[in-house]
Amino acid sequence: MLTLGKQQSTYDFGPDNPPALRVKPGATLVLETLDAVDGQIQSDSDSAEQIDLGHVNSATGPIYVEGAQPGDTLVVEILDNELANQGAALIIPGFGALQDDIPGPYTKVFHVEDGQIRYGDKVRLPLKPMIGTIGVAPLEPLPTLNLGEHGGNLDTTAVTTGATVYLPVFVEGALFGAGDVHSTQGDGEVCGTGIETDAKLTFRLDVRKDFPIQRPRLENADEWMTIGVDESLKEAIRLSLLDMVSWLQDMHGLSREEAYVLISLVGDVRIGQIVDPKASVRTVMPKSVFI
Ligand code: CA
Repeated sequence: MLTLGKQQSTYDFGPDNPPALRVKPGATLVLETLDAVDGQIQSDSDSAEQIDLGHVNSATGPIYVEGAQPGDTLVVEILDNELANQGAALIIPGFGALQDDIPGPYTKVFHVEDGQIRYGDKVRLPLKPMIGTIGVAPLEPLPTLNLGEHGGNLDTTAVTTGATVYLPVFVEGALFGAGDVHSTQGDGEVCGTGIETDAKLTFRLDVRKDFPIQRPRLENADEWMTIGVDESLKEAIRLSLLDMVSWLQDMHGLSREEAYVLISLVGDVRIGQIVDPKASVRTVMPKSVFI
């Protein structure tokens, strides 16, 4: 199995980053990923205030996918997400939806025991592994903490095992990378972190020439999803809705109006996160309504 170790991590998605690995379309590969603070937090006494913010949210990569050209779509099947047994959630001053109200710092280290995580004596959390950062190189370099049409720090809970992520290709080879895995995270990621953990991710990468997209899309066995990203939550919602309207038109021959109304009837608009430089939003459509 092709494997890329976590020493091959990068802090930006950029068109000129030298590939760490080259693969053919259809390849299956394993990426070992660092937690989002590069292991700087190991116990509750490690202060969230002392984190070196130059070493956060790394992605393992970049991976050059042969044959991927600008205008193509990279197809990323998530086959497995093996979590480490330890992770941390943090309130980092200056981050989070309540940064003025509950500024921190606060550190909580968690351990997996019998397939679940305890939070004090009264709370038990099931594992809900997800990949926070997944993307390709945009035309201009962007830090891995940022997000946009190339993907990046989407922090979207649906990016998990069994899902297929579609990313628009901007540069030759796509230059794919992923990292920032969470053992669990709620929609919104309100304090600014999930349980940030090391992981071992297994992907199959492929290229489609017949499925041009402008922004990330996603599907699993039950749902289609379109992802909008913007500084404004409202604009992010608009972008994800417009993409879902056109996807439903293309897949099912609906008119714009029919697609729009159908989303209103059975689709959900869900927040990825509202705490990074831009918000991420997804429109979720159940496949089951189509007969
Ligand atoms: Ca993240």
